[in-house]
Amino acid sequence: MMRVGRSRSRSDELRQGPSRDESARDSRMPEGDALHRAARRLQVLVGERVEVEAVHPRARAKGVAERLDGRVLESVEAQGKNLLLCFEGGYVLRSHLRMNGSWRIVPAAAETPGLPWLVLRGREWNAVLRGGSVLELTDRATRRLGPDILAEPPDFAAMLARLRAADQRRELGEALLDQRLVAGIGTVWRAESLWEARISPWLTLAATTEAELEAVVEAAARLMRLSLDGRRHDRRVYRRAGRPCPRCGATIRSGGQGDDNRFAYWCPGCQRGEEGAGK
Ligand SMILES: [Zn+2]
Repeated sequence: MMRVGRSRSRSDELRQGPSRDESARDSRMPEGDALHRAARRLQVLVGERVEVEAVHPRARAKGVAERLDGRVLESVEAQGKNLLLCFEGGYVLRSHLRMNGSWRIVPAAAETPGLPWLVLRGREWNAVLRGGSVLELTDRATRRLGPDILAEPPDFAAMLARLRAADQRRELGEALLDQRLVAGIGTVWRAESLWEARISPWLTLAATTEAELEAVVEAAARLMRLSLDGRRHDRRVYRRAGRPCPRCGATIRSGGQGDDNRFAYWCPGCQRGEEGAGK
């Protein structure tokens, strides 16, 4: 889906932060047609749940991948000299290609050498962004979002209050991905923070103690902040199903959780509360 010539106000609404004068830079940008061609290429991934990885350190520092990982790519459109990638949950990634940026589609099995800014991995195809020096994440549903896990400082009390106001029969892992309760946690940091806090994603909110709830949101904030600062984190459980837990040696498991079946990873040996697993 490509929409051209949308109103200026719409464009401003999608932009976050102080407005900047981009006219000077625009003179050496790819033209709109190049953007539309890129949007057309990216259509192969629309409708798919994608894994999102930022490889280039400057892209990692933006914290975009953490927020988008595991979400469905709902649409890609060219708007002026921007590409707008809309993701499930109301997130919009604005990619401005500037001089040397490019989005390429490669078979999922192909290697992605070097330091791409962003890789979106689908079932059959990967989209690879190189040299995209403008990358911004906005969301259309800010007012409905819970407290941001990457706020400085994060409002843990407000997060706990929202988690407690939710239906307590819900599973913790599923609730952590509900952006209305806590904003910003995706499948990677859900898995890693639950492991840090030693609780299973299958524990219901009712069965989760106050200390455990606090531990898991604090772990998520800490790990995501480190990632945002460019610190490398060796994943303990995420995408490590069938391998030994680095803490207790038990075999890490995985399974779809929640209505949208996004994959959870956990260690049955050292994360409390496996009730409901294996659905
Ligand atoms: Zn373990």
